[in-house]
Amino acid sequence: MQIIETVSSMHEWSERERREGRRIALVPTMGFLHEGHLSLVRDAKKRAHQVVVSIFVNPTQFGPGEDFSGYPRDFERDRGLLEKEQIDVLFHPAVEAMYPDGAETYVEVENLSLPLCGAVRPGHFRGVATAVTKLFNIVRPHVAIFGEKDYQQLQVIRKMVRDLSMDIEIAGHPIVRESDGLAMSSRNAYLTADERRAAVCLSRSLCRGERLLRRGETSAEAILSVVDAELAKEPLANVEYVKLCDPETLIDIKTIHHSALLALAVRFGKARLIDNRVLIRH
Ligand code: AMP
Repeated sequence: MQIIETVSSMHEWSERERREGRRIALVPTMGFLHEGHLSLVRDAKKRAHQVVVSIFVNPTQFGPGEDFSGYPRDFERDRGLLEKEQIDVLFHPAVEAMYPDGAETYVEVENLSLPLCGAVRPGHFRGVATAVTKLFNIVRPHVAIFGEKDYQQLQVIRKMVRDLSMDIEIAGHPIVRESDGLAMSSRNAYLTADERRAAVCLSRSLCRGERLLRRGETSAEAILSVVDAELAKEPLANVEYVKLCDPETLIDIKTIHHSALLALAVRFGKARLIDNRVLIRH
């Protein structure tokens, strides 16, 4: 596994691989890797000859007062995990390499960035879209893999690739969970033991909502109220939002006709956790 830190070396590597006809997959991450990330990496290996994993904690997707400086980092551990997965390149740029002095160009996917996490984290998806565009321009992958845990992010990237005619396949990967149902996340490291036990209410409340739809209830109000009630049982949970929306446009819906995205964000102490499930009406 090669570690590349500069844009020019990454360009050179990618140019050579492409010239030789090899297909490149990219898995963008912010590091502090867990089984969720590694599952994306294994997926990437099946889709291409060469796998690049980027580790970059992107400052432009954090708002003022968010956890950019405290975001968990452990480069040596991440490097060891990726060595074991036998990837080809670990791309690990410095902030200055990604954002040279005077950078003032951003990518914004207007409407998809507004609801859900975008409503509570203004500018977040502009930062994500800009950093991902840059990673695409630097690594020049044929395919990039993103987790469905960050469902809105995946939709924003899909839309961006379509709108800007980027020649890159975007693959979504299912949410990887702990054995009790908690979606894996680097931010789970923030949880105290009590908060960790409490955090299982996220996936449990999604299951409650799904079960209600399976029993024939299609009203968003009814489904959201059982999800809210399940979360309300947990005193350590501070709910930021619970939404039922169209899985493509992310606009709120009143009734489930075919499918819907049930998405939520909940704070436990200093951890802000998200989870979601696509509900299908049979
Ligand atoms: P992050 O390092 O949190 O920015 O995540 C990097 C990539 O891994 C993103 O595409 C995430 O959606 C994905 N990811 C993170 N956690 C999970 C998980 N539990 N299951 C599936 N994908 C995940």
